[in-house]
Amino acid sequence: MNNHVAGALHSDAGPVWLPYPEDVNELMTELWPAGIGRGDGGVLTVAGLSVADLVAEYGTALYVMDESDFRSRARRFVRAFNDAFAAEFGRPVGADNAGAVDVYYAGKAFLCSQVAGWVIDEGLRLDTCTGGELAVAARAGVPGAKIGLHGNNKSDAELRRAVQMGVGRIVIDSLDEIERVARTAREFGVSVPVMVRVTVGVEAHTHEYIATAHEDQKFGLSITGGMAADAVRRITALPELTLLGLHSHIGSQIFDMSGFEVAATRLLELRADMDAELGDGACGDEVDLGGGFGIAYTSQDDPQPPELMAETIAGVLRRTCTGLGVRPPHVSIEPGRAIAGPAMFTLYTVGTIKDVDTGQGIRRYVSVDGGMSDNARTALYNADYSCTLASRTSTAHPVVARVVGKHCESGDVVVRDEYLPADLVPGDMIAVPSTGAYCRPLASNYNHVPRPPVVAVRDGVARVLVRGETIDDLLAFDVPATAGEHTPADEQTRADEPTGRGRL
Ligand SMILES: *Cc1c(COP(=O)(O)O)cnc(C)c1O
Repeated sequence: MNNHVAGALHSDAGPVWLPYPEDVNELMTELWPAGIGRGDGGVLTVAGLSVADLVAEYGTALYVMDESDFRSRARRFVRAFNDAFAAEFGRPVGADNAGAVDVYYAGKAFLCSQVAGWVIDEGLRLDTCTGGELAVAARAGVPGAKIGLHGNNKSDAELRRAVQMGVGRIVIDSLDEIERVARTAREFGVSVPVMVRVTVGVEAHTHEYIATAHEDQKFGLSITGGMAADAVRRITALPELTLLGLHSHIGSQIFDMSGFEVAATRLLELRADMDAELGDGACGDEVDLGGGFGIAYTSQDDPQPPELMAETIAGVLRRTCTGLGVRPPHVSIEPGRAIAGPAMFTLYTVGTIKDVDTGQGIRRYVSVDGGMSDNARTALYNADYSCTLASRTSTAHPVVARVVGKHCESGDVVVRDEYLPADLVPGDMIAVPSTGAYCRPLASNYNHVPRPPVVAVRDGVARVLVRGETIDDLLAFDVPATAGEHTPADEQTRADEPTGRGRL
């Protein structure tokens, strides 16, 4: 199976997909930001800075963002989709084809005010789904018109804030919400642009999609149940709401473009039906195909370049429009992971190393100073990650290792299987790539571990995007008993009470 002489005791049996590395120090370019490299002694460098210097300043665990890489991925989506749609639909657009497609960055993948600023700089718009995300957008000075608001359970306060900020669209996710948005519009004396989140009966998974008649999920209004059509009828009857069009989001970490094809076709068919019923243009001009474009976490993943995805989607839409005899829509997309994911990696310091006899061989457990509190995706989704020795290179033979965190859960795994050099020792640093999306946003303080800082590097200069938490931050949320009300003596008494809870 592989050409390596097994180390004395260690299992060389990684999973089938994990190739034995020719060179354990090699960096697979698809997994890393463009600014990655190795400097003196093999220490990892990013955008001209050594990670050793970053760690000296900020410690570990540490999220490191390559700013230029993030920006260029964002820009590339805008250019690829605008060029492809301009080419397919032959629209008279400017030199850079701007305006053929709107690209919304899905803020939930990773959002802070500086990143919101980058996104707008690069010609994108911003998708939000809560009052908190709206607050970050407001802090960054994102113009309301460039913000979209999603969510299956928006509060009145969130709707009010969105309308007050003049968001470019609110994506309606339930029939109840229609009247609530209309009421908010009346309150502010404005007309509110909305879209309808349609459940198209397509569920996309990484390498396949499933088209189903019934959709058992909390998002959207289904076509088959007639709820989407009902929403369109109700919205168009309300003067306070302007229906921009239809929206769908079929999944995440998708490589198979055929799911988008089915979704686009079903949206355009619904639009044609509604226009026939309610009058031409009633259903709006816009079709949003959501996000979900896949990235590489390990050598198993082979994402398509945005140019190819854009051409595929543009071609499908043109053919569908021709087939149905309908006018081409204005398209928007919402990539999150594909922009933020590969732009960031996480640095950890190796602590204990344990060789465990599993009965089928020896498994090496490498513990690091973080874990499920800074990357929940492995525990939550069984996600695969990869990693590399970051503080030096090594000529030792590779050993399959499992990188685990410091939390009190056996499921606290960071990287399930990866080849690391056999001479790894406590104090070495390792780096886990592709942690830019859904890691910091899903981070927790489990076990009272402070969440790590997020640092951006550009042209050899590091800047903090999100400050790291301290024990003082954690204690700041903790409300201590005031003297006389709660003393250790009280605690003793209370422990004896049947409920164990004492008075509230
Ligand atoms: C999560 C989400 C996205 C972004 O998904 P990615 O997989 O990060 O690209 C886009 N649109 C909607 C509505 C979402 O919920």
